[in-house]
Amino acid sequence: MDEFDVVVIGSGPGGTLAALKSAQYGLKVAVVEEHPIIGEPVHCGECLSSLALKRMELELPKEAIAAEVKGVRIVFPNNTQTVAYEGGYVLHKQIFEQHIATLAHQNGARFELGVRANEVERRASGGWLVKTSKGELAAKVLIDASGYMGFLLRKLQLGNMHQIASGIQFEIEDIPQEGLLDFYIWPEYAPEGYLWMIPKANGSANVGLSAKAKDRASFNAGAKLKEFVKKMGWEGKKIKRTFGGAIVVSGPAAKTYAGGALLIGDAAGFTSPLFEGGTQLAMTSGKMAAEVAMKAISAGNYSEEFFSQYEGMWKKEFPAYGKIIRGKNALYALTDAELGQIGSVLPVDISSVPPLTAIKIGMNVALKNPALFGKGFVSAMKAFEYSRAEHYGW
Ligand SMILES: Cc1cc2nc3c(=O)[nH]c(=O)nc-3n(C[C@H](O)[C@H](O)[C@H](O)COP(=O)(O)OP(=O)(O)OC[C@H]3O[C@@H](n4cnc5c(N)ncnc54)[C@H](O)[C@@H]3O)c2cc1C
Repeated sequence: MDEFDVVVIGSGPGGTLAALKSAQYGLKVAVVEEHPIIGEPVHCGECLSSLALKRMELELPKEAIAAEVKGVRIVFPNNTQTVAYEGGYVLHKQIFEQHIATLAHQNGARFELGVRANEVERRASGGWLVKTSKGELAAKVLIDASGYMGFLLRKLQLGNMHQIASGIQFEIEDIPQEGLLDFYIWPEYAPEGYLWMIPKANGSANVGLSAKAKDRASFNAGAKLKEFVKKMGWEGKKIKRTFGGAIVVSGPAAKTYAGGALLIGDAAGFTSPLFEGGTQLAMTSGKMAAEVAMKAISAGNYSEEFFSQYEGMWKKEFPAYGKIIRGKNALYALTDAELGQIGSVLPVDISSVPPLTAIKIGMNVALKNPALFGKGFVSAMKAFEYSRAEHYGW
């Protein structure tokens, strides 16, 4: 049986980055991925900020770039708009993940593709036994990067299963675009969620919806997305593919570590609450997990107490989930008319809001509809702020 310092379960952005950093620390790493090709099938809107790449010290190969974008435009139901300028990319996500995996491989990481982790057991001699669909691996440290199903969350009973929203998107040809990620807060089409138009190469775009309808049984996300496409005047344009997946919306797991084990990315519940970006959070937590694994192996300390430092690391760095959820809930409780009132008082460019501008916005809201303050207007604005790249939003 092969013995490794670190076994990573899953080769999404979190797992590949954790493998790369662990390998760069000189650790012997294996990654098990149930799909035969890294990054496929793509389930993501594929946008990633330049800041995320800078923080991860990653350079994008040209082939991984579908488009460059200047920022995020938020569109309200009455079509009022505000833009937060911050640069980034729309990726060919599978090529991006394959690129990180290649770097990890060049640094010595081994990738076992088409191999599913089925069970884990603690070994009497210390460390873990990972039982896979193609044999067994031994590891000193496990990093769970298995996505929203949270492999170790279940196996080690570290918390409840994550709650999820369904994301669905069409890649559509010939969509008018201005180099911005367009996020639409339009409850009529996406109750407790939002819609997006993410521009890609040659005029095509990922047009999608994520929603958490109260009456799930009668909510048909695909039909609503088609209605939105019609409303935008894009009906009849060629849909190249339909894809999507599950997005964790319940926040971090009750516990993201055990002695000798760490949960990262979606497996740990790390998605940005409002616009649900998770790639930067997955990679950052992967980097942190690699650091803790390296320290544990150097110290020969696999105790739960030692591994608890991981939780301290991400709690210090990631924005407080509760605050954003409060803002998100306040936003979702507003009517279309109220959202329109907010849209009409926000500046066209919301990239940086100096205190005087913030006071002016507040005064304009008070003039339009003072009741909005009682409905959590300030908190809702904070949720927007915490969705920025700086706060790991994308
Ligand atoms: C529709 C949609 C749109 C999105 N848009 C964006 C966006 O534009 N920007 C953004 O930042 N985020 C976006 N996200 C979120 C983002 O995709 C995730 O947060 C991110 O991919 C999480 O990375 P991860 O590495 O934690 O998990 P994943 O990317 O989910 O990777 C997990 C991997 O583990 C593998 N795996 C699972 N179980 C096992 C097992 N037992 N054995 C072996 N392998 C296993 C899976 O096959 C998978 O490859 C979107 C999500 C959805 C669904």
